[in-house]
Amino acid sequence: MAGVLTRDQNAAGDSRATARLLTNLLESYTMVSDLPECAWRQRFTMAIKRLLLAKPRGFCAGVDRAIDVVNMALQLYGSPVYVRKEIVHNKYVIRSLAAKGAIFIDDLDEVPDGAVAIFSAHGVSPEVRATAAAKSLKVIDATCPLVTKVHMEAVRYANENRSIILVGHAGHDEVIGTMGEVPGRIQLVGSIEEAEKVQVPDPDRVAVTTQTTLGVDDANVIIDVLRRRFPKLTAPASDDICYATQNRQTAVKLLAEDADLVLVLGSDNSSNSRRLREVAEGAGAKAFLIDDASEIDPAWLEGVECVAITAGASAPEYLVQQVVACFRALGVEHVEEVMAMDEKVTFLLPPELSREMSSRGLTQLS
Ligand code: SF4
Repeated sequence: MAGVLTRDQNAAGDSRATARLLTNLLESYTMVSDLPECAWRQRFTMAIKRLLLAKPRGFCAGVDRAIDVVNMALQLYGSPVYVRKEIVHNKYVIRSLAAKGAIFIDDLDEVPDGAVAIFSAHGVSPEVRATAAAKSLKVIDATCPLVTKVHMEAVRYANENRSIILVGHAGHDEVIGTMGEVPGRIQLVGSIEEAEKVQVPDPDRVAVTTQTTLGVDDANVIIDVLRRRFPKLTAPASDDICYATQNRQTAVKLLAEDADLVLVLGSDNSSNSRRLREVAEGAGAKAFLIDDASEIDPAWLEGVECVAITAGASAPEYLVQQVVACFRALGVEHVEEVMAMDEKVTFLLPPELSREMSSRGLTQLS
């Protein structure tokens, strides 16, 4: 995809922080490894024999596109551009884009009339679109097309006069956007208990949709309950849990069967990253969600022979490589990428951005 700044350049924007984190960990190691009876040294260099990297991991097509959108908007319109909510849920991505001139806001009221506003990958409700129109904002919509698909399903089910049950997590940006498509017509269910209790006016006219980033197995159990309660339940033809979420969960499950410890790169507010940690734990491994290498607790490594690493769909690859570099520096030689499946999904740029480029005679930004 055409982009303003390459991923490497993005990484370079955080290089000082990355170097500092790496140095901190390595300095700790050097200090303790100088001691003859150092427990750290035994843990790191003698116990850990293998490092497995999940594939696929990290950025999905929707995140790639959303980050490209902000970078391209900055290049086309100049700073500042306003981004409603976190463009994707990762603190490194946000920090990097903010340093280039993106301003992240929670509410469009914070945006000056007529300014450039970008909607995040998680989508927005029609109410937000109306506010943007009222303020004459130049909107670029970076909503992932797979989130838009869920919105369209919700609208279709409402038009068919069905009660809609959305399986998802309360308060997540994507859930707020989807529920806002059909206010008052959609109920959120986040657990088996809630699925057992949810009430609808006509049990024969119920449809279900899901958040795109749920745990596949957890969502299936909830949907099974809904199917038992509402045998005529209507569901989308293709899964709402997106390809990236499913593939990353399949890959981490595969590795977790082998690994003693799974490290998931991702921010705490990233739903799909949190699900990866849960899936790994469910497969029998110790699993932790970390923003970067500095968050690795040496105690986690005690007695561990095989460490697996994956990354949520919003976590940059350089954070994975930073962790790999730390383990290599600590003496781990066997680093192996384990491919669960190949991914070749890409999404087109938002039409408003493509139009702007072609109006300026541009096919690509450098
Ligand atoms: S995780 Fe899935 S739904 Fe979310 S941005 Fe990526 S591809 Fe789209």
